[in-house]
Amino acid sequence: MSRDEPESDVADVDLLVSGGDVVTMNPRREVLVGGTVAIAGNQIVAVGSTSELRDRYRGAHVLDATQCVITPGLVNAHEHLTGDPLVRSCIPDLLPPGASVFEWSVPFHAAHTGDIDELSALLASLEALHYGVTTVIEAGTVAHPDRTGTAMTTAGIRGSIGRWGWDIEGAPFSFPAAEVLALEREMCEAWPRGGRVEAWVTLVGHNLASDELLAGAADLARDLGTNMTMHMSPTSSDPESYLAAHGRRPIRHLNELGVLGPHLVIAHGVWLDDEEIELILDTRTAIAYCPWAYLRTAQGVTRVGRHAEIVERGGRVALGCDASNAGDLADILRTAAVAAAIGRDTRIDPMTFGAAAVFELATINGAEAIGMADRIGSIEVGKLADLAIHDTRNITWTPPGDHALHLVWGTDGRTIRDVIVDGEIVLRDGKSTKVDELSLIDEAKKAQAEIFASAGITPQPTWPLIEAD
Ligand SMILES: [Zn+2]
Repeated sequence: MSRDEPESDVADVDLLVSGGDVVTMNPRREVLVGGTVAIAGNQIVAVGSTSELRDRYRGAHVLDATQCVITPGLVNAHEHLTGDPLVRSCIPDLLPPGASVFEWSVPFHAAHTGDIDELSALLASLEALHYGVTTVIEAGTVAHPDRTGTAMTTAGIRGSIGRWGWDIEGAPFSFPAAEVLALEREMCEAWPRGGRVEAWVTLVGHNLASDELLAGAADLARDLGTNMTMHMSPTSSDPESYLAAHGRRPIRHLNELGVLGPHLVIAHGVWLDDEEIELILDTRTAIAYCPWAYLRTAQGVTRVGRHAEIVERGGRVALGCDASNAGDLADILRTAAVAAAIGRDTRIDPMTFGAAAVFELATINGAEAIGMADRIGSIEVGKLADLAIHDTRNITWTPPGDHALHLVWGTDGRTIRDVIVDGEIVLRDGKSTKVDELSLIDEAKKAQAEIFASAGITPQPTWPLIEAD
């Protein structure tokens, strides 16, 4: 068995996660069968033999992971924490393109108070943890982004937050570019890079930003040494709109403005032509790929999506779940299965883009795409202690098969038992250690009624509801 040597003194070790199969995702992709991870503070200080590490660190607290699979905490590179988590499964299924955003999401965002934003983000963060996701890149919050950060801190999850900005005249919540940029800077300075929660320069993207705002946002991200994220080309409407306005497709336009680069994570990139794919690859721009959302909202990923090709050509891709009325579940393992299935079926090729490739997108390669691979994404000495512990004592995992195949094809996020972020156990036996989930559920039900009332929307049930008390 290979092992990483400890860098820490014996007395420093606080926690041993012990006796499980450790899927390290290290460069050799080793799995330590019945192994142990030693944690000091927020860092992994040893990964190796259970008998040796239990003997070496006798005083440490032990989290028994026998009959469990221990993986790196999973990465979700695009998730809306506010806007629609409180109205999950309420936006009608059969809507024309754009209606779910302008007739539903925009009024919900407008109706969000600070308390609602925080509650919504807390729910979404806890859901992510239940699926073993330890790092979430937030798509953006309109009005109270600080409250999103507070919620993530309360839940104990890692990730980025962002103040959603746009400057197109007449659009809801729009401000002049200079004002948007000043607010973005303020946000990034208040939540600096490297914290468990950090702010990124976050635009809505699409066709909702002037050239001045796009170029200024990229300059700001470079200046602050942080990342930038925005939506682009989930459907054909962004290419159509950029061609009409600028005579060139969106990615080429962003390239001309100097917006592309390793600092940028573009959510979606479904409708890209050959030139745009070359630009994404050449500039090392990352893509957050949310395949379940494209399938659910009929965006054409099976016709035109080329994410598997981008990955295979060395592009930087992470997985995302998008929103509560699009990707629906914040379950990155389900997303990984869908991503692999699309990559294989659309090319009618069962020899490519299998479980191992997509599990990399959910862990080490996803971490690289969001610029955090120096901190997270694998179980190695020196990395932050972000772990997901999958319980195999259930029918889904019985009998356990090949680790990569079982994680991606054979199960989903529902067998997560414990989650550790920064060395802190934030989920234990399927329950948050930091939040009373039962009271949160009651609070969320009340808040849903409030948000419908203040947005002036009456939900229309798919099937008739008959009062039958
Ligand atoms: Zn989105």
